[in-house]
Amino acid sequence: MNNNVDNILDKSIEGERLDQGEIQALFDTGGLLELGQAADAVRRRKNPDDVASYIIDRNINYTNVCVYRCRFCAFYRTVKDSEAYVLPFEEIATKVSETVACGGTGILLQGGVHPELRIAYYESLLADLKNSFPQIHLHAFSVPEIWYLAKLEKMPVREVLERLVAAGLDSIPGGGAEILEDDTRRQIWSRAKASTDQWLGVHREAHEFGLRTTATMMFGVGEPISARIVHLLGVRDLQDQSGGFTAFIPWTFQDLGTDLENEVEPSGGYDYLRTLAISRLALDNVDHVQGSWVTQGPKIGQVSLFFGADDLGSIMLEENVVAAAGAQYRMSQGDMERVIREAGYSPRQRRTLYEPL
Ligand code: SF4
Repeated sequence: MNNNVDNILDKSIEGERLDQGEIQALFDTGGLLELGQAADAVRRRKNPDDVASYIIDRNINYTNVCVYRCRFCAFYRTVKDSEAYVLPFEEIATKVSETVACGGTGILLQGGVHPELRIAYYESLLADLKNSFPQIHLHAFSVPEIWYLAKLEKMPVREVLERLVAAGLDSIPGGGAEILEDDTRRQIWSRAKASTDQWLGVHREAHEFGLRTTATMMFGVGEPISARIVHLLGVRDLQDQSGGFTAFIPWTFQDLGTDLENEVEPSGGYDYLRTLAISRLALDNVDHVQGSWVTQGPKIGQVSLFFGADDLGSIMLEENVVAAAGAQYRMSQGDMERVIREAGYSPRQRRTLYEPL
C-alpha cells in the first residue's frame, strides 16, 4: 500500500478532514479495495446501525419540454417537437395515487424547463397535489427550473422558493448539479444554465429558508478529476455553512442518444466505485451517501454498500430521464430488500428526508 495514501485513509477513518491535495492523492493513487475499506469504515461510523435504507417513490416528469438542450441529455424535447408533452394535472394525480397504493411516501417532480410555464402553474400543481395527497412528500423542481422561473418572473430566488413552499413544496432535489466546475459545465451545455455559484446559491437560499435538499454529481462527462474535487469541496463548504443537504448522490453519465455519445467514454464500475468511496471520505459533514443502482444496475448497487453508500435511493415506480439515455434497470421492493439483506444489512424503508418509516 502506498504510504501516503495509507496515512490519508487513516486520517479520514479517524474523522479528520481531508484537504484538496489529499483528495487528489486518493484519486491519483488510491487502490479500489483500500478506498472501499476506508469508505466502509466511515460509513459505519456515521451510520452505525446495520441498516441500509431505501425509499419508495416515483419520478414524475411533468413535462419533457426544455429550453436548455444539455448535451448530456436524451430526455428533452423542444416545444414544437411531436413528442413534446405537458402532463395534465389529472394524469399526475393518477400517478401519485398509484404511488400511494404501492406504499410510496413521496414523489420527485421534475421537468424539463418549459419556457411558457409561469409560477402560477407550479403553485397550482403543488397545491392540487397537497390537497389531494397531504401525506405525500413533494420533493420537486431542481435548480434549473427554479433559476429559470426566477428569471422569467423577474423575482428573487428567495421569493420563488417562498411561493412554492406556501403552495406545498417540501424539499428540492439536487438535479442540475452535473459537475460543479464551470469549465466542465460550459462544455456539456448547449445553453448556459445556472453556474456553479448560482447552483450553490439556490441551495444556500433554500437551506436558509429551512428547506432540505440533496446534492448530486453526474460524472464521467469528460471532466478532469480536478473538477470532481472542486465539486466535492463546493458541496462540503456549503454544508459547513448551512447543514441543509440530507445526502450526496454521485452517479455516472449515461450516453445513449445524447450529443456526447461517441465523444466521451462513460465511466464503468471501477471509476464509479472509486469515486463513490472518495466522495464518502471527502464529505465528512454529509450524513448519507447514496448508491446508484439506477445507473449501475442492482449488482454494482449492492456492492456500493461496501464502498461508502448507506442508502440505495428509490425503488422508482417510474423514471424517464436516465432511461432515455439507456439505463433501464428496475427493482421491486422485494428485489431491493433482497439486495440489501444479501449484503449483510437490514433493509429499512425511509421517507424523503431520511426519517425511518
Ligand atoms: S438535463 Fe434537464 S435542463 Fe438539461 S436539457 Fe435535460 S431536462 Fe433540460
